Amino acid sequence: MRTSEVNMAAAETDRELPSALCSEFLNFSAKDTAAKWLQATDLPNEVYQHLARYVPKIYCLGPNLNPQSEDLLAQLLLQAPLEWYLCGEEPSVGLAKLEQSNQPSQLCGHVFKVGEPTYSCRECAADPTCVLCMQCFLGSVHKEHRYRMTTSGGGGFCDCGDTEAWKKGPYCQKHEPNISDSSQEDPLANLSADMIARTYNIFSIMLRYAVDMLTWDKEEELPQGLEPPERGDTYYCMLFNDEVHTYEQVIYTLQKAVNCTQKEAVSFATTVDRDGRKSVRYGDFQFCEQAKSVIVRNTSRQSKPLRVQVMHSSVVAHQCFALKALTWFSHVIRYSDALRRILCQVGLQKGPEGENSLVDTLMLCDSKMWKGARNVYHQLVMSSLLMDLKYKKLFAIQFAKNYQRLQTDFMEDDHERLVSVTSLSVQLFTVPTMARMLITEENLLTTIIRTFVDHLRHRDLQGRFQFERYTAQQAFKFRRVQSLLGDLKYVLISRPTEWTDKLREKFLEGLDAFLELMKCMQGMDPVVRQVGQHIEMEPEWEAAFTLQMKLTHIISMMQEWCGSDERVLIEAYKKCLTALTHCHSGFADGEQPITLSMCGHSVDTIRYCISQEKVSIHLPVSRLLAGLHVLLSKSEVAYRFPEQLPLSELSPPMLIEHPLRCLVLCAQVHAGMWRRNGFSLVNQIYYYHNVKCRVEMFDKDLMMLQVGASMMDPNHFLMILLSRFELFHIFSSADCRKRYNRESANKDVVQQNSTLIEEMLHLIMMVVGERFVAGVGQVDSWDELKREIIHQLCIRPMAHSELVKALPENENKETGMEKVIDSVASFKKPGVTGRGLYELRPESAKQFNLYFHHYSRADQSKAEEAQRKLKRQNGEDSALPPPVLPPLCPLFASLVNILQCDVLLGMLGAVLQWATEPSGGHWSESMLQRVLHLIGMALLEEQQQLEGAVDHSEVTFNFTLKISRPGEAPSNTPSILAVLETLQNAPHLEVHKDMIRWTLQTVASIKTTRERTAAAPPPERAGGCQEETVRDKDKAERKRKAEMARLRREKIMAQMSEMQRHFINENKELFQQSLEELDASTSTALEHSPSSWDSVLVCVGPRRWRAGGGERRQVVTCILCQEEQEIRADGRAMVLAAFIQRSTVMSKNRKRPPHDPESYDPLFMHPDLSFGTHTGSCGHIMHSHCWQRYFEAVQAKEQRRQQRLRVHTSYDVENGEFLCPLCECLSNTVIPLLPLTKTSCSNSEQPGVMQWLSTTSQQIRVLHSAHRRAKATSAAETGDGESMETHPLPEGFRLDHTPVNPYSSSIKEMLTTFGTATYKVGLKVHPNEQDPRVPIMCWASCAYTIQSVERLLVDEDKPLFGSLPCRQDDCLSSLARFGSACWTVSSLAAVQSHFIRLMAVLLPDPQVENSPCILHVDMFHLLVSLVLSYPAVHCQDSSGLSIDVAQLHLLHLVTVAHLVQILLTSVQVELTMEQESGGVEEEEEESVCLLYNTLRSHLGSALREVSSGWHLWRTVRLGILPFLRGAALFFHHLHGVPTPPELSAPGVGEWEMVCAYLSLPSNLLQLFYNHQELLQPLLQGWCSHPSLRQCLRSPETLIRFPRESNKLIELPEDYSALINQASSFTCPKSGGDKSRAPTLCLVCGTMLCSQSYCCQTELEGEDVGACTAHTFACGSGVGIFLRVRESQVLFLAGKTKGCFYAPPYLDDYGETDQGLRRGNPLHLCRERYRKIQKLWRQHSITEEIGHAQEANQTLVGIDWQHL
Ligand SMILES: [Zn+2]
Ligand SMILES: [Zn+2]
Ligand SMILES: [Zn+2]
Ligand SMILES: [Zn+2]
Ligand SMILES: [Zn+2]
Ligand SMILES: [Zn+2]
Ligand SMILES: [Zn+2]
Repeated sequence: MRTSEVNMAAAETDRELPSALCSEFLNFSAKDTAAKWLQATDLPNEVYQHLARYVPKIYCLGPNLNPQSEDLLAQLLLQAPLEWYLCGEEPSVGLAKLEQSNQPSQLCGHVFKVGEPTYSCRECAADPTCVLCMQCFLGSVHKEHRYRMTTSGGGGFCDCGDTEAWKKGPYCQKHEPNISDSSQEDPLANLSADMIARTYNIFSIMLRYAVDMLTWDKEEELPQGLEPPERGDTYYCMLFNDEVHTYEQVIYTLQKAVNCTQKEAVSFATTVDRDGRKSVRYGDFQFCEQAKSVIVRNTSRQSKPLRVQVMHSSVVAHQCFALKALTWFSHVIRYSDALRRILCQVGLQKGPEGENSLVDTLMLCDSKMWKGARNVYHQLVMSSLLMDLKYKKLFAIQFAKNYQRLQTDFMEDDHERLVSVTSLSVQLFTVPTMARMLITEENLLTTIIRTFVDHLRHRDLQGRFQFERYTAQQAFKFRRVQSLLGDLKYVLISRPTEWTDKLREKFLEGLDAFLELMKCMQGMDPVVRQVGQHIEMEPEWEAAFTLQMKLTHIISMMQEWCGSDERVLIEAYKKCLTALTHCHSGFADGEQPITLSMCGHSVDTIRYCISQEKVSIHLPVSRLLAGLHVLLSKSEVAYRFPEQLPLSELSPPMLIEHPLRCLVLCAQVHAGMWRRNGFSLVNQIYYYHNVKCRVEMFDKDLMMLQVGASMMDPNHFLMILLSRFELFHIFSSADCRKRYNRESANKDVVQQNSTLIEEMLHLIMMVVGERFVAGVGQVDSWDELKREIIHQLCIRPMAHSELVKALPENENKETGMEKVIDSVASFKKPGVTGRGLYELRPESAKQFNLYFHHYSRADQSKAEEAQRKLKRQNGEDSALPPPVLPPLCPLFASLVNILQCDVLLGMLGAVLQWATEPSGGHWSESMLQRVLHLIGMALLEEQQQLEGAVDHSEVTFNFTLKISRPGEAPSNTPSILAVLETLQNAPHLEVHKDMIRWTLQTVASIKTTRERTAAAPPPERAGGCQEETVRDKDKAERKRKAEMARLRREKIMAQMSEMQRHFINENKELFQQSLEELDASTSTALEHSPSSWDSVLVCVGPRRWRAGGGERRQVVTCILCQEEQEIRADGRAMVLAAFIQRSTVMSKNRKRPPHDPESYDPLFMHPDLSFGTHTGSCGHIMHSHCWQRYFEAVQAKEQRRQQRLRVHTSYDVENGEFLCPLCECLSNTVIPLLPLTKTSCSNSEQPGVMQWLSTTSQQIRVLHSAHRRAKATSAAETGDGESMETHPLPEGFRLDHTPVNPYSSSIKEMLTTFGTATYKVGLKVHPNEQDPRVPIMCWASCAYTIQSVERLLVDEDKPLFGSLPCRQDDCLSSLARFGSACWTVSSLAAVQSHFIRLMAVLLPDPQVENSPCILHVDMFHLLVSLVLSYPAVHCQDSSGLSIDVAQLHLLHLVTVAHLVQILLTSVQVELTMEQESGGVEEEEEESVCLLYNTLRSHLGSALREVSSGWHLWRTVRLGILPFLRGAALFFHHLHGVPTPPELSAPGVGEWEMVCAYLSLPSNLLQLFYNHQELLQPLLQGWCSHPSLRQCLRSPETLIRFPRESNKLIELPEDYSALINQASSFTCPKSGGDKSRAPTLCLVCGTMLCSQSYCCQTELEGEDVGACTAHTFACGSGVGIFLRVRESQVLFLAGKTKGCFYAPPYLDDYGETDQGLRRGNPLHLCRERYRKIQKLWRQHSITEEIGHAQEANQTLVGIDWQHL
């Protein structure tokens, strides 16, 4: 509430002012003003005077701004003279002329709104920042290409027409340039000199004015010439936005400071957030100053205070108009490219003394302006400077010149980058020619890198980055600095195709700066192994890795630039080498030189223990050099210009030293030696190998080892390797083959060494075998990619997105996978769930390498298992030999010699020898496996060389020879081959048998090749062996199945005995099976398969089928105590877990306002079915006492839990909710199971409908007076002794008779429980078992549930009977039988009066008031309520009247009423059906016409004339069928009558069968004509109901029959249509703002502004978001939404429950894209949408949420109500 007087006063003046000004405004002439200006000598002064006079009179006149009128006045008084002056004539005419000569830009330039869809072509876009707007995209060639769709964050613009942005198809149809006028003529040529001069004048003045005002920082004064004529004491208290304070803080502070309501505070805060500032108070200086001090005081505690200024109103007014002026510029330059050109000129013109241009001034003040101002001028820059190709260039140069200053300002600024002028870089730097021009002219590359390095000031003593003591503030800045790397990426993104000398020079200068950056990173964050104690504090590592990650693509791009020019490559290589040498100036770092000798070789190196000294994971300089070295090889520069390269200066040991240390560090971490260094190291190692970093980390280290090894003696290389792995002592001793076995020192050390040996062997394999990089091996980039994909798919079949995640992306976020995937894999489409998968083609599996360098250990073992299994399935042996490798490039060719060098052979021999000892324990299986793999690699190498060679003696690679030689004296060790042969038969090596056999066979085959004998094919495997494996497999399979069965049994048993178990989540399939088993036990088979039925089955009336005593017996098992129990009226109560919910699923009127729960009378359901109560059940049965105990336990547990910590559960115990103890289905009550009522077929004469009706009317009359008497007695005190007229009692009717309740006390208790629950949920009231509405709600729920089941069966195309799951059958039976029994626990009089009122609809009764007309009653609800309430009357009748007879009469009466209802509402139905010839049903047609005409005779013109009986009868049949089917379901379940088999199968004859089952004539009209004398008067009574005619007069509100099933809304096929729709959706509450989370209601199609403050409303005293609020109106608490920006379905139930669900949109790879992160085009999957619709129709949304929340506890914590 506003309370301040000043405010009130201000508001008053506000109202007066405009009228005071009115006359002055009316006399104003824009034309005259412009004419005056034309004559002026000092135009700027004239214009300023005008502005000084008018602006403060138009803008900012009070606290309540009125933008519309302000804008209108500004247009008339301020803009109109400008336009008049500009055009020299009527502006509308002048501008139109300009528009005619306009040459529209061929650039689209459409500026994106937040959330608007943007498209990029993955095939043609120069880089991923090139995007198209939807319109251009649809008119472009790219819509047929592979495209990517994203939603814009706002700010960018459409690149259509920019030839540099697209490799192909740069224009859409609309922006295709006209060939004829392609001449780049000066746009000013078409303009008169006069006009140019005027434009120039006025643009200069106005742009200067706007710039002056927007950059103005004084609060009181105005620029010279703008001082207002009179100035009052009127101020604004202006609040500015920052990114530090939260919404809540601002709202709270404002409420305190300016004394406003929460709602106003929210609105202030929203505007501040959107526009960057907002005046929160208007008044005199003192008044505003006071608010300011409160705000500052309140927000300065936590952090920097909120920025507040008290500004004079005239300053604010001029700033408002300055913004308006900029918008005006955008507006007028749209008419003409010439005007645009002039504006550009004015903007970029320097002052007479070289002062900054106006645009420069704006840019340089950018960080000081508020958000709204920035946005407006950025938009103007985009629509002017960036649309004019000439000035875009000039602007880019100014931007580059100011670059360093702008970035520095941005670092200090706390706004997001999106609203900073620096974000324009993407528009300038990504244009290739522009980027290159800026590199050569403005040295942009160096500027960016230097600016970046300057901002990272934390260095250690060696000048390396040090991020250790990083504060939050610095971390924040660090994030800002990273945007510079984004700019660097833009500049580098397109590689030059042609190099100029200048470009070379400037690029290399940039590279120098880049190397300086790399040098600061080389060796940063070094680690030292922690021994003894665990580290105390995890060291900072993330900052360094973030930097590395951000630089990864830039490093790669730098290499690509170098690779595109030989001279640059050579120079870069030299520079990089110098940098590396500089980094390791003392490469020995003072370490001790040592000499290593082994196997007759020796090498000089240093002693360096990685486990004791410093190691760093960051080695970017080494890695860059490795990359460049491979480029030398790839481009063959190394061979063509060796003289220009410093190859001789290279010191291979120096090159490999640091990368090797890093790799050894990883090995030691794996071996568990670094455990005490904590998680930071583990994380670093993880990222080192991770797909995001490995390309410029692990991969390059490996490459560097290959570079070094290729230039070294392999023996020397291996000895250094052994030394760094700290394993040299093990293998160097002469008798290492034996010694190692005996050295059983420390078990840990042995274990460690085993792992280290494994790791080292793996490293050797990789150095020799990893050849899939162009330049190392003779491959191309596709080979490399194929190999990655193959190895991923060797683990398991994968979805597209999984593969993408596993592959490294380039700077364009492309993996290139689509180009090769089909050659190695086949695609398997998804079903209704799951996603599409790629499966490896069998032939590709041959390339599987178990030791693929990118496998993690987990990947490796999964792949090994999968591949062995595959081989077994194919009947092959399980050996996984190494694959054949491509040849190495010449520069790396010598690497293969590692395989046959003495040191390696020594190591192989040693390991094999150790393996001969089974119990040695000092070798490991994987060690042996690796040795065998290495041997295999060597053998394949030899084989390949032999195959390639003409003369075998030329092949120097002779591994077979070397492994056949025994060791020399004195040790005389056996040859490796001999050891292998020994191992072949070793029983402890069973697993390796296949591999050893493969090895020996290969050796043999090579030997034969060498001996030049005819190449013998490898020996056939013995046939018997194969047979054996088949038999074994069968046996194994049988065993597996038996085991599975046993496990399953055990699980079910465990299930039964244990209460709450998270079972479904563990095993969904199992759950299904056990459910079926249980269901089979509950539903008595007898009910469904009739054993004795003679002629026709009838479910209602005296002829109905009756169960014999035995057949009635029903025995069930309690899921909690496992005891069996017969269902008996006098037995212990058995109950079904049930869930009651309100429902609008069948509603035909979603606009009906919700009822007032306290006063609502639910007796009659309106035929629009707008609100119903649905009851469902999972079908699980318990003893009532078992359930009660269980529920109490759940309650107690919940109470304990709430005391401990306030966590939510997926169910609300306080509201009676619990999870079914067996299936965890959400439930909120239980339904008692009741036996079939025993009704014997009475033999006495039964009354006809006439007689029954008259008896019943008599009874009703008697009851009326009895009830009145009872009321009178209770109100006796009033002394109103009015004598009641007494009616004669009908025969046998005993008013004093109180029926005996047949049920046991536990059943009675459960009857009350369920009744009360239905009442409570259905009406949303507090439970009250005495309320007379309790039984009504139960009957209504029974009717509604049956109706919804009937609809579902139709929708699913299923037969009426036999297709429902057992749980639903059980539920319906219980509901119906409960309904017929619930009166026994209610007040008899209340139920009787319900019956009386229900009857009054059919049988008008003067004593009943407000009886509805038959068009306002749903007849099925009426039928069910009548049948279920009748026993309350019948129980006092002892005349022998059969209740069955009464039911039949009731059915007949209601059916006739429904017939009439249908006829009355069918009147307006268009006759669209084609009449069929051959009237088989002439009788029906005639009688229906007759009845219709009778109705017309009562109602006259209200009913249309209908001549076609055929059509009428069809309408009636179609309309009444759902009712009849519902009635059949109802009576079937009420009486347990078997169903005729014809109704269990879909097909013809349903009508006749249903009628017969219901004991109705198939010509329903006979019901009327057989009792005309009775029904004619009734008919007349119905027709004369006063509201009936009224209804018929407004046919649009009539409900017609059959009511069609409701569907979820139609969704578009293409998801982008939805995004587009959502992007134009604005928040309905905050005046045209874009909504952040537009969310579509799938039930009614309403778009909502979700998850935001603006659209929160109050619901039942709580703040809720738009979705929750809508849910209550549209879905009675249950909602289904599509979150458009997230591509996610949202289910909501009540205020606290919700979950996300997979959207029905899939990409071409059969995957959803929740969160729209991948951007593949999405298309509607109808099956999945139908599945969601089905969940909704069968009322399973809440259940689905419950299951999702149980499975994922984090869902429970989400504040669903705020969505
Ligand atoms: Zn466009
Ligand atoms: Zn276009
Ligand atoms: Zn394309
Ligand atoms: Zn039990
Ligand atoms: Zn259950
Ligand atoms: Zn809705
Ligand atoms: Zn909103």
